[in-house]
Amino acid sequence: MDNKEITYILHHYKEEDLPFGAVSPPIFQTSIFSFKSSYEFSKALNDEINNYLYTRGNNPTVNILEEKVAALEQGEKAKFFASGVAAIASSILAFVRSGDHIISVKDCYSWTYTLFERYLSRFGIKTTFVEGTDVGEIEDAIKPNTRIIYLESPTTFPFKLQDLKKIAAMAKRQAIRTIVDNSWATPYFQQPINMGIDLVVHSASKYLGGHSDLVAGVIIGKKKDIEHIFKTEFLNIGAVIEPFTAWLILRGLRTLHIRMQRHFESTLKIAKYLSSHPKVERVIYPFLKSHPQFELARRQMSGGSGLFSIKLITGNISRIRKFVDKLHYFKRAVSWGGYESLILPYVVSHPDAPRDLKPLVRLHIGLEEPEMLIRDLENALKDL
Ligand SMILES: *Cc1c(COP(=O)(O)O)cnc(C)c1O
Repeated sequence: MDNKEITYILHHYKEEDLPFGAVSPPIFQTSIFSFKSSYEFSKALNDEINNYLYTRGNNPTVNILEEKVAALEQGEKAKFFASGVAAIASSILAFVRSGDHIISVKDCYSWTYTLFERYLSRFGIKTTFVEGTDVGEIEDAIKPNTRIIYLESPTTFPFKLQDLKKIAAMAKRQAIRTIVDNSWATPYFQQPINMGIDLVVHSASKYLGGHSDLVAGVIIGKKKDIEHIFKTEFLNIGAVIEPFTAWLILRGLRTLHIRMQRHFESTLKIAKYLSSHPKVERVIYPFLKSHPQFELARRQMSGGSGLFSIKLITGNISRIRKFVDKLHYFKRAVSWGGYESLILPYVVSHPDAPRDLKPLVRLHIGLEEPEMLIRDLENALKDL
């Protein structure tokens, strides 16, 4: 997909015919929809997925967003949820039952890990965790009852990639469903469905929203799969996105292509600067030549986003705290994907981390002037 197609989707697709010639899509802030006749009413009741009946099912503002994101990911259909975690949980729960087996990358998002490890295990569903960097390792973990291979490429602290094309082909041969969390790369840089992956999930709270002002999630895939999820987990758990939140994401998406390009350029600059800094032992970013999977990164993504890790030369907690507290423009906060730069030292989220993980610090490079961010880092690193 080229930039022309992307901007067509972001700025025009499904907005040709808005009421009153409105340029910005209306926020349909309504919980219910009424019908001219009881005949139409009963038709809608029996086919909720194709009708406006109740906003816990479909809502016109939400549907415009879903059609755009499905097109961006090159999938047939998308369904938005109240959070990334709600989308991820629903994409998995809809396709497993007691006694089934799942394979997942071990460094997946923390609450995804918890879902496998603590939640699904209560219902007799076991998960095998794998490194994910070797297709053979995943194939060896397959059992007769394996239903899902869950991926996140790259993972968002150690930044390990999975070969999506190879894993998708291998899983297809064994009739196992593949799911990938594509929050880091976004459809602007990576389109897993084109590589054979069945379902793509996102935390839209990150780059799709892009302004750190909302929480939402989405699943994209084949019409049949999304309709199954709609009729099962979506309607039953009811983790529904608000029309206003959907409208905010539509607004955020207007600049997705510009933001992602800028995140990539600035991040490369800053990652390269840090690579040669004496207080930094290693920079972990898939688009640096020093990354062990640099070739794979270039093969399956057209660029990278603004999140990466550095390994400092020290794991001393008080020195790391001093460095982090001295920064002016990097906010000390969780999450990422907004316009602003952020920092999260591993020892702050995991005070009992093993020795080798203590020097890890995760940075998000926002849309600020990169030179300004470099000066800020330079100043703070002096004291480390
Ligand atoms: C934040 C995040 C999630 C969870 O999304 P929420 O919108 O916070 O529920 C899932 N996956 C990844 C990779 C994330 O960074």
